[in-house]
Amino acid sequence: MIEPSDVTPATWAIAGGRPSGAPGEPLNVPPVLASTYLLGAERIYSRNESTLGWEAFEDVIGGLEGGTAIAFSSGMAAAAAVLYGLPSGAHIVLPDDCYQGVAELATAGAAAYGWQLERLAVTDPAWPDRVGRADVVWLESPSNPMLEVADLAAICGAPRGGGATVSRVVVDNTFATPLLQRPLELGADVVVHSATKFIGGHSDLLLGVVVARAEEHVAQLRTARAVAGATPGAFETYLALRGVRTLPLRLERASSTAVVLAERLGAHPAVTRVRYPGFGAIVSFELAGAEPADRACAATRLIRHATSLGGVETSMERRNAQPGQEHIPPGLIRMSVGCESADDLWRDLRAALDA
Ligand code: PLP
Repeated sequence: MIEPSDVTPATWAIAGGRPSGAPGEPLNVPPVLASTYLLGAERIYSRNESTLGWEAFEDVIGGLEGGTAIAFSSGMAAAAAVLYGLPSGAHIVLPDDCYQGVAELATAGAAAYGWQLERLAVTDPAWPDRVGRADVVWLESPSNPMLEVADLAAICGAPRGGGATVSRVVVDNTFATPLLQRPLELGADVVVHSATKFIGGHSDLLLGVVVARAEEHVAQLRTARAVAGATPGAFETYLALRGVRTLPLRLERASSTAVVLAERLGAHPAVTRVRYPGFGAIVSFELAGAEPADRACAATRLIRHATSLGGVETSMERRNAQPGQEHIPPGLIRMSVGCESADDLWRDLRAALDA
């Protein structure tokens, strides 16, 4: 059997999570449609143990990130599991720009359990210091939707504080994917993904995944999944496994198109600012205000006007239009670049901006 360390990540995405190789076995792990198992062996009930189908998906993602992966029913279920069980008064540091759902989750925890929340700018030099003092340091880089980039190496590698209850550095790696950055290798404790996005890649499922290295973290996450019933569906993990096989191809194509579109957007007179970190498939750009941005979003014919991201199809939306996103510039459009031709996309975008 091939191990992740034998091959590049792009090859592991294809070679991982396969049956052992005995003659006559299927090449793909089929979805296992069973809530329960005949008693007398290790697997008992599908809320408590990973089924074969989830395991194949978890093997691939774990190999890509360099840890043990645990799949969840959505990215938010994964995020909730990471924070599950934090004691009252826990100190959590979050970026000022991060996925709105995670900010809401932490705010709900502050109201219910007295968690102490601290928000820092993604590029604030105080992050490594907080690693030594907070219970959880939660990073998202590039951030959603401002695409700010954190100094992950400095933050993930910073010394942990003594005596902290949980003391974890968590990185939401949804935007970069493990093909572009691997936070566990930089010293992070936990990586979170909305696998709904690039990993699934086809905008047809909701799924989350968490990857950790320390046994205590893995055990805590498995417990959180089982007790909350935040288990993934058999079809979702099957589709996501199928989706991740082409992640390297999709990301390579989408990223090179994103570079082209970011350049062309920067030269268009209607665009006041382009935010592109130089890698990945998300480009945010600003128009003069909400009204021209709404008109541009409504005018594209090929680019779909929809929330979410990471699919083969290009989509975009004005983020400030979403509840809780009032701090985002009103004219900011977040575009998730897909796999269509760069020229077709630019023609569509330019016509919408010209109009
Ligand atoms: N993290 C990021 C960066 C996201 O963009 C999202 C969703 O948009 C989530 C987490 C939550 O994932 P899900 O929608 O799969 O619950």
